[in-house]
Amino acid sequence: MENLMDKVVSLAKRRGFIFPGSEIYGGLGGTWDYGPAGALLKKNLKDSWWKDLVQLRGDIVGVDAAIMMNPKAWEASGHTQAFVDPLVECKLCHERYRADHADEIALHEKKHKGKTVDWTEPRQFNLLVRAYLGVVEGAQSEIFLRGEITNGAQVNFKNVLDSTRVKIPFGVAQIGKAFRNEITPGNFTFRSREFEQMEVQFYIKPEEKEGKKWFDYWKKNRMAWYVGLGMSKKNLRFRDHADDERAHYARAATDIEYKTPWGWQEFMGIHHRGDYDLARHQQYSKVDLRYRDPYTGEAYLPWDIETSAGVDRSILFLLIDAYHEEGERVVLKLHRTLAPYKVAVFPLLANKPQLVEKAREIYDTLKPHYMVAWDERGNIGKRYFAQDEIGTPYCVTVDFESVEDKKVTVRDRDTMRQERFDINELIDYLQQKLRL
Ligand code: ATP
Repeated sequence: MENLMDKVVSLAKRRGFIFPGSEIYGGLGGTWDYGPAGALLKKNLKDSWWKDLVQLRGDIVGVDAAIMMNPKAWEASGHTQAFVDPLVECKLCHERYRADHADEIALHEKKHKGKTVDWTEPRQFNLLVRAYLGVVEGAQSEIFLRGEITNGAQVNFKNVLDSTRVKIPFGVAQIGKAFRNEITPGNFTFRSREFEQMEVQFYIKPEEKEGKKWFDYWKKNRMAWYVGLGMSKKNLRFRDHADDERAHYARAATDIEYKTPWGWQEFMGIHHRGDYDLARHQQYSKVDLRYRDPYTGEAYLPWDIETSAGVDRSILFLLIDAYHEEGERVVLKLHRTLAPYKVAVFPLLANKPQLVEKAREIYDTLKPHYMVAWDERGNIGKRYFAQDEIGTPYCVTVDFESVEDKKVTVRDRDTMRQERFDINELIDYLQQKLRL
């Protein structure tokens, strides 16, 4: 029997959610393209994230920083140093060491006492993807595509302070692409070489009590957001990082994991980064990045509680979670906020102009409110089948009676119940049902 993952991958391709990158050329390892339904799903997820964190709160502002940055930023954040020599990677915690530094490796193994430590074969690899900027190739023009989006927010800390009215505690939100030369991409989009992240760097007073309070707050807040988007609680859990697993600067770190067909896997992290980033950027840029308290005049580098979520991993897990088989029917029970199309409109028969015209009228009336699908091929059963696989919450059918009694049939994706509605009441009904 086909396993769940194969079914999701096949549905994603068949219905236009996710295609292999550059497929007609045989693909490019670790890259994926979102199709018409996938692009909408991704946009809905990101819009919903932004609404929740930026629009509905008063204490988070957004930025959209460049993917290409001055290479010094990557030196400051420590991303460049570790990637220039043959490295081995600890399979337990992914820390990498120079293959020729036997003492460091031995010391590292001691940190995992009691556990068997496996190492990858030594290899020369760069996690940071290199690119050449300008017309002459060479060291002068070599830059990196960002390996994570964090730096773009951190280097703008002062700009945000100077251009807005934010006061500690406050956050900087960002969504954007990141690139990593992953050694082993795989599990569909789970480990890609190009992917998208959505992050908040939340700056707080550098005090232990504040750190604990906000770290716990963001753990609960992010978990609740995913549950609110319909993810099954039983498939979600926190996994606190052990002391020997955390980056050296991290004061605490927790992942939110999803129970995938191949085990529990991370799709977002909550990291207490202390003042590591701002201190390093201050040191390397020689720009004073301290925050000045408007009441006391005290100047300090705030601590940062980061929430870092993968857009693509979130989408993959939302798809797995939404995938249901009910008898013959396959249905994606996506939350209405995420569903690519909110409503589909069908004329019962494609060759009856009066039905098509009426259905077009309804389609045009609904379109300004949300994405609406149109389908006039095949029979109604096939059209329901297709919309169920895309996760469209409502289907509206215009039949012969509609022309007489001005009523249409509305079919609910989850209950499969069909109700007849006066066309004039249709918008109100859907508006109420689809309230986002
Ligand atoms: P992993 O241990 O799986 O490599 P990570 O701990 O390196 O992940 P972070 O650096 O904390 O990941 O990145 C934050 C989020 O970015 C992850 O939770 C994940 O959702 C996403 N992410 C990281 N690497 C990839 C990747 N190669 N492909 C897709 N998403 C990724």
